[in-house]
Amino acid sequence: MLRWSIATVSMGGTLEVKLAAAARAGFRAVEIFENDLTFFSGKPRDVRARAQDLGLEIAALQPMRDFEGMPEPMRARNFERAQRKFDLMDELGAKLLCICSNVHEDALGEPERSAADLAELADLAARRGYRIGYEALAWGKHVKDWMQAWDIVRMADRPNLGIVLDSFHICVRNNPIAPIADLPADCIALVQVADAPAILMDPMSLSRHHRCFPGQGDYPVNDFIEAAIKAGYRGPLSLEIFNDQFRGAPANIVARDGMRALQTCGETLDARRAEQGLPATRIGPALPAPAAISGIEFVEFVTSSAESPRLVALLEGLGFRRVARHRSKDVDLFRQNGVNIVVNREQEGFAHSFYLVHGTSVCALALRFDDPQRALDRANALGAPTYHGRVGPGEAVIPAVAGVENSLIYFLKDQPGQAAPSHWDRDFIFANPVEAAGPLTAVDHLSNVVRRSEFLSWITFYKAVLGFVDEPQVEVADPYGAFYSRVIRSPDKSVRIPVNIGDGGATAASRFIETFGGGGVQQIAFATDDLFAFVEQARAAGVPFLTIPDNYYDDLSARYDLEPGVIERMRALGILYDRTKGGEFFHIYTTMFDERFFFEVLERRSYDLFGAANTPVRLAAQANEADEAAKARAAFGG
Ligand code: MG
Repeated sequence: MLRWSIATVSMGGTLEVKLAAAARAGFRAVEIFENDLTFFSGKPRDVRARAQDLGLEIAALQPMRDFEGMPEPMRARNFERAQRKFDLMDELGAKLLCICSNVHEDALGEPERSAADLAELADLAARRGYRIGYEALAWGKHVKDWMQAWDIVRMADRPNLGIVLDSFHICVRNNPIAPIADLPADCIALVQVADAPAILMDPMSLSRHHRCFPGQGDYPVNDFIEAAIKAGYRGPLSLEIFNDQFRGAPANIVARDGMRALQTCGETLDARRAEQGLPATRIGPALPAPAAISGIEFVEFVTSSAESPRLVALLEGLGFRRVARHRSKDVDLFRQNGVNIVVNREQEGFAHSFYLVHGTSVCALALRFDDPQRALDRANALGAPTYHGRVGPGEAVIPAVAGVENSLIYFLKDQPGQAAPSHWDRDFIFANPVEAAGPLTAVDHLSNVVRRSEFLSWITFYKAVLGFVDEPQVEVADPYGAFYSRVIRSPDKSVRIPVNIGDGGATAASRFIETFGGGGVQQIAFATDDLFAFVEQARAAGVPFLTIPDNYYDDLSARYDLEPGVIERMRALGILYDRTKGGEFFHIYTTMFDERFFFEVLERRSYDLFGAANTPVRLAAQANEADEAAKARAAFGG
């Protein structure tokens, strides 16, 4: 049976904290990184006792560096060092010592010498009951690829010497993966798993700063694990992630995300094996399969009595009508066509707490699932517990889990063909008419801004817990830095959420994090069938739109053979434009609401992107707006 393991180097904090976090997340084994012992207050045997109490096997001690193929006197010193490592292993109760390929400038290149050194070391280890694992580092002086390491291990030919396979080193060097399946299982000492983004960078910097959990990067990690399993390997699968952002985050969150990533790896692998008629290799109960998502049922805003009139005026300017009031709470439902916006002015409970921290903002999102109970069971199984809110007598209980910055994600049953799902009738008193027409037809997408350190964590949340898929990451210039965006979407594309981070203290994303007090929904984009008619109507109703500089339209007329009349209309209305092969895109942004969120309204004509070409224009216009707002505040002495 495979066992999920995590290397202590993957988490931040003290060794005690790391061990507790690993056990709490459900890991059954850890690799102890020797540096962690340096800062440990107790003795190594205390680590052993602590791990035992927590039900954690110490799968390995690592690393021993620059060992094989050294000239004398360094060679002799290395064997003395190895004895001290074995003494440490006696105390720790670790059975495997990991040696990574030599990076020392004096290392000798002959494989025969390296094999002889490793054979001698393995014999010493055997006397004490230990095993040696040999790993090719992508930046090793002579041994960089797993095939070279394997040749040396085979040459040394010791029963207690095996190869350590690390997906990072293998993938960053583009080593072949399929032949791993032909290795003898008892010659694989350990399998380490890490993903990374497919960016061009020297392998050592990439490894030290950008390793990430499976599914967060671009490497074929599942193919790698599948090959190891095919070889017959059944030992620990160990996450070994060097990443500054991870070490800066709470260990509990990192361990939980690692477990989510491994559990979904296991799910994918077992699905592949089932297709090939092979038995599952998973540990523990199977994850409930993701439920199918079919759209956003509602977006919930929280506000106060004082700020509510401005929010409501904006919503009404966008064409929403109040159609219902909550039976027991100070909550209204605004609607047009199939789009539902809930405005919550409660003075207690979850929404009010959210308001106190973040101000008027989106506090919840309700998604429609074909099987919400299964979706919830899956979330629970992946470490996202059910949120239980206050429910009035006779009101619908809508299960939820915590999303970005402790906003809520509600799980609702889709009811195809039924205009108003029952939870509305149970909780709301509808005025006539129940339906409201309007120019907006759907929520096209929502964007989240998150802290840079939490970006990968939320990508894993949406993918593993909710069953979203992601699209490649894009980078956009912000007037004050850079802006990164990765779109995650439901498989049917009915829900799309670009997740954004900023790099630079004054970028739009950073300003948002600051004024909002954390990550959250910054943008809600609605679709319309006729943007020009919508904007004329909305402007007449007093909706403030972002001022787009004139130069943008001059540039547009130079780039595209648009009819002059169309460009002038866009210029007059503040509409932005993008084009792809066969597709056109018109869109517009409202000004920021209290520097926190804004609406986008868009018209797609056979166009499936997000107008990223116009993001720099939008960011520059928003930066101007923020500067003006700051000046106005200063003028009022506020
Ligand atoms: Mg490694």
